[in-house]
Amino acid sequence: MGQARISNLRRRMQEENIEALLVSAPENRFYLSGFTGDEGWLLVTSGKAFLITDRRFLEQAAAEAPNFIIVDRGDSFLARLGEVVAEEGIRILALEEDHVTFNFYRRVMEAVADPKSNLPKNLILKPASGLVEGLREIKEEGEIQLLRRAANLADAAFEYILSFLKPGALEIEIAAELEYFMRRKGAEGPAFPTIVASGPRSSLPHGRAGKRALQKGDLVVLDFGALFGGYNSDLTRTVVLGPVTPEQTRLYRTVRTAQELALQGLKAGLKAREADALARNYIESTDYAGRFAHGLGHGVGLSIHEGPTLSHNRETILQAGMVVTVEPGIYLPGWGGVRIEDMAVVEEDGCAILTHADKSLLVL
Ligand code: ZN
Ligand code: ZN
Repeated sequence: MGQARISNLRRRMQEENIEALLVSAPENRFYLSGFTGDEGWLLVTSGKAFLITDRRFLEQAAAEAPNFIIVDRGDSFLARLGEVVAEEGIRILALEEDHVTFNFYRRVMEAVADPKSNLPKNLILKPASGLVEGLREIKEEGEIQLLRRAANLADAAFEYILSFLKPGALEIEIAAELEYFMRRKGAEGPAFPTIVASGPRSSLPHGRAGKRALQKGDLVVLDFGALFGGYNSDLTRTVVLGPVTPEQTRLYRTVRTAQELALQGLKAGLKAREADALARNYIESTDYAGRFAHGLGHGVGLSIHEGPTLSHNRETILQAGMVVTVEPGIYLPGWGGVRIEDMAVVEEDGCAILTHADKSLLVL
């Protein structure tokens, strides 16, 4: 980790005419530096890379981020930043516009204008967007290994939770049990708040676990993931608490076919919208036309949702090494829904699926 990523960032900075970038997003900070502390800023210039953090983290920062010059922020981050900016002769400073608050921007502007501050008076602030995120879209082998571990934890959790899916069990109990299992098996935490959406609630694409008790005949959508080594997994399975109805079977088979079609067709060179169409065109050809109410999937890595977005209007060309979810769903309001989601690594002539939990229609 480290030097190659910083070099890649510098190449992108050069393309966008950025001489210095202040990195504030925690995932970007970790990606570039390896620093896992929860407070710190990176300042990357064409020749140097600084990690500015506070005293709690100095020792950790030196150990985790050997490619960075570690700077103690002291009493005031802005004062210290001003010193470094002045020493390095930085005239234009780019901020990650998607990650800094209005408050931070205003304070930097005020400091630039303040004659007593040490930020250069002619410093120009400029917005930057997606520089590090763009690099993060293509995963290195080591990152894929961590994503695989995170995916394995989710697979194991799905198998484990099946015996808890019974009439009377509360959605929140199931979510808690799932998350506890993943922690015990080595996850740092859940990747996101676990979705357990049962019965009519299964038609809510993001039905967070609530206090509903499962009932006979329910469709139950479970969407969850583990955080491992900083990387997230994302898995959805839908099961039925028997008895199953012909309509539930038909719905399940339709989503399953759409999902398999997408996984079979996913490969480098496709546009994101073409990947989305692999599943969508099939669903649109059935009675469920118009019920696939979201995009096919999203990139996943240090963030649970990151680039590339797979949806009907995205022109992004998929590249080998991207890790995306493939998660078609069909939702019938007031009645129920089915979603099936796997994670896959895009490869030159296909994809490698990272999640392996059972996808047959499980009637419990
Ligand atoms: Zn999911
Ligand atoms: Zn997802």
